[in-house]
Amino acid sequence: MMRLPKFAYCAPKTVGEAVRLRGEAGPAGQFVAGGTDLYPNMKRRQQTPETVISVGRIHELRRIEGDGKEGLRIGAGVSLTEVVEHPVVNRDYPSVARAARLISTPTLRNMGTIGGNLLLDTRCNYYDQNYEWRRSINFCMKKDGEVCWVAPGSPKCWAVQSSDLVPLMVAMGARVRLVSTVGDRLVSAAGLYNDDGIDYLHKRPEELLTEIHLPPVDGWRAVYKKLRRRGAFDFPVLGVAAAVRVGDRGEVEEAKVVLGGVAPAPLEVEAAGKALAGGPLDEGRIRAAAEACYLKARPLDNTDHLMNYRKQMARPFVMRALEELRQSLS
Ligand SMILES: Cc1cc2nc3c(=O)[nH]c(=O)nc-3n(C[C@H](O)[C@H](O)[C@H](O)COP(=O)(O)OP(=O)(O)OC[C@H]3O[C@@H](n4cnc5c(N)ncnc54)[C@H](O)[C@@H]3O)c2cc1C
Ligand code: SF4
Repeated sequence: MMRLPKFAYCAPKTVGEAVRLRGEAGPAGQFVAGGTDLYPNMKRRQQTPETVISVGRIHELRRIEGDGKEGLRIGAGVSLTEVVEHPVVNRDYPSVARAARLISTPTLRNMGTIGGNLLLDTRCNYYDQNYEWRRSINFCMKKDGEVCWVAPGSPKCWAVQSSDLVPLMVAMGARVRLVSTVGDRLVSAAGLYNDDGIDYLHKRPEELLTEIHLPPVDGWRAVYKKLRRRGAFDFPVLGVAAAVRVGDRGEVEEAKVVLGGVAPAPLEVEAAGKALAGGPLDEGRIRAAAEACYLKARPLDNTDHLMNYRKQMARPFVMRALEELRQSLS
């Protein structure tokens, strides 16, 4: 059985106290919410904080406010189950509720939060292993080693962005609020991620994610599709999020297609968005967008399924996602 290492644990009740404690803990501190990502990683010694600051008792992080007209603010500490079941999320942002329902299992969704999901560690077959397994290959660049076993000549880590909600948040133009002792800032979800498996966030470690802002619906519709081995539960090895804004005459005014599970950061395929815009969401446009995603997706051999299969699946998954959007418009 894998055991947690020893660590100090604090459970502050306010955002101010949490960021103060995190500042005091320095580089050896880390926030935890549901712990469904962090605690397994600590058991495998992938992450080794000495002080863990829980955000679970901060009530202000558990609110959902607003609606599709004015925009929705979801507290970072809201559980995935609450996201799945919330009436306003289901009415105004159904793709968010549906994508959250595809995450892990009911028990894990009860514990796991939307904030933790957006900040999920990147994943790789050579990293998501216990300490002894990793030691047997002399570790890897992401933790304790020097070489990348996926791309040995590469100066960077290619561990994969594996959250189901991240591509959707980027496609929908969501923003997140980050708070620290020196102030707070609102950044776009697109700007939060860095294409590097080790340094995967444009966020300072001491910044607390407090809220996710979904923009007003304003004619936008979104969808998310996920490739995984087991339908019951599994991380995505390809995720497709698409969002379109359709005008009164049925033409696509703006579109975004974002892939997850194929790179260290969510991958927006701008050519796919351009291929969709300027006319009806018809088969020709859908095929062109799917082709653009197929060309752009370059998964590596570090998750479940062969990388070539994951690339090949980009086409049908984009087509299915866009077809579902088309049907929802008719
Ligand atoms: C068996 C299994 C299957 C899973 N399947 C999926 C899946 O299919 N899809 C998927 O997307 N995920 C999956 N997950 C991952 C995980 O359960 C979810 O992503 C969950 O939403 C993580 O949330 P959490 O609150 O538990 O995060 P935590 O483990 O608490 O935290 C995750 C990371 O975010 C940081 N953090 C958390 N909250 C904050 C905050 N407010 N501010 C700053 N930093 C913060 C932590 O320091 C940590 O680095 C799976 C996990 C397991 C164990
Ligand atoms: S991509 Fe390379 S460096 Fe990154 S976790 Fe995998 S093996 Fe390690």
